[in-house]
Amino acid sequence: MRIAILGAAESGVGAAILAQKKGFEVFVSDMGTIKPRYRDMLDAHHIPWEEGKHTESFILNADEVIKSPGIPDKAPMIQKILHQGTPIISEIEFAGRYTNARKICITGSNGKTTTTSLIYHIMKKSGADVGLAGNIGHSMALQVAEGDHEWYVIELSSFQLDNMYEFKADIAVLLNITPDHLDRYNFEMQNYVNSKMRILQNQGAEDAFIYWDKDEYIPTELQKRAPESKLLAFGDEKTSSLAAFLEGESLVTVEPQKISVPVKDVCITGRHNMRNAMAAILASQCAGVEENVIREGLRTFTGVEHRLEKVCTKNGVEYINDSKATNVDACYYALDAMTKPTVLIVGGLDKGNDYSVLFPLIRQKCRAIVYLGADNAKLHANFDSLGLPIADTHGMKDCMAACKELAQAGDVILLSPCCASFDLFKNMEDRGEQFKEIARSF
Ligand code: ADP
Repeated sequence: MRIAILGAAESGVGAAILAQKKGFEVFVSDMGTIKPRYRDMLDAHHIPWEEGKHTESFILNADEVIKSPGIPDKAPMIQKILHQGTPIISEIEFAGRYTNARKICITGSNGKTTTTSLIYHIMKKSGADVGLAGNIGHSMALQVAEGDHEWYVIELSSFQLDNMYEFKADIAVLLNITPDHLDRYNFEMQNYVNSKMRILQNQGAEDAFIYWDKDEYIPTELQKRAPESKLLAFGDEKTSSLAAFLEGESLVTVEPQKISVPVKDVCITGRHNMRNAMAAILASQCAGVEENVIREGLRTFTGVEHRLEKVCTKNGVEYINDSKATNVDACYYALDAMTKPTVLIVGGLDKGNDYSVLFPLIRQKCRAIVYLGADNAKLHANFDSLGLPIADTHGMKDCMAACKELAQAGDVILLSPCCASFDLFKNMEDRGEQFKEIARSF
């Protein structure tokens, strides 16, 4: 049996090593440049690879292809493979064949990394033998190849789910579905919704499906599909159908176990993070984690870098880095979480944003707005008329100087830009790092 692997980064290289270990003849091909770390790993295992091209004769003769989630179906090589009917699977699908571990899988348009990390944090605290996989951590295939675990907590994107068929999540979490990546789904929202709902596939009565009850799509999709899974819904307000909800100032679950956790004992903040926390409590309970461990996990999980990350307080002004907020929805929840007058930094590469949903929150919470982009014209057109003090900047240094000028003791300076970062920065991490470095230097 021969396996071709397209894309030689974390998932592809892990899959190659596992495939070789399982006795397949393996070939790895990447259209771009392979990072030295991954080249070295392939060489160390004597796995043949190529970069900068896809050689058809080495790929089209494979019995199965494992594709990196980053490669779209419309790529010419994928079209050829599909045309000749060779199965294409994802690394997670492949790894799932070779482990008996129980799998907690998390997907959604927003909140995946936070919720996955929180569940992993709680599972670790419980003493379970657990691996972190999917979009974060090391590839699941590599972990399966190199020692395996009893549990995996796996962050799944819609692109990974698209090439998963037999894989089953023992505990599945679907946080929300809002428009995203529609260019990969023929600009049809239903295609993207179907992709997210694949997290349910193959589940039986012994498996759990945890979801946000107020989502625009999930409840309808569940009615259509009538899964056998044990359904556990969470929501913002108590109703009889919910397994978890906010009641007063506490997060409450009624099944699979009863627990009540004061919001003040949860380290991450904001309404969206309370939803993520409820999903994590339910998943941990399904995994059999004890109540005191769950409480301890919620108390000690400080969040993920670049997501509402508290950086420092200087001269009475707090700095919060939410550089990962690359869409309006994420900025909305960041502003919603603010409890002090806020100087908001917005801007970057605009993906066709409609900013109007932010206006009421901006009026209510913001002291000033600082634009940070190569081209701030759309920001002027949208926000100037709100009548707040405005600063127009084109680099992090100027931006931070303007923020410092505009903020007063007791305020917060929030980087939650609604936009991609590539106009002025390498990526959203670079943008967040620069923000943090300058804030700390004040
Ligand atoms: P993902 O991995 O799905 O991109 P992250 O946990 O990295 O999610 O968070 C991305 C952005 O989305 C952050 O800016 C965060 O403030 C926001 N966010 C996190 N959880 C939620 C949620 N449940 N609903 C809406 N927005 C959220």
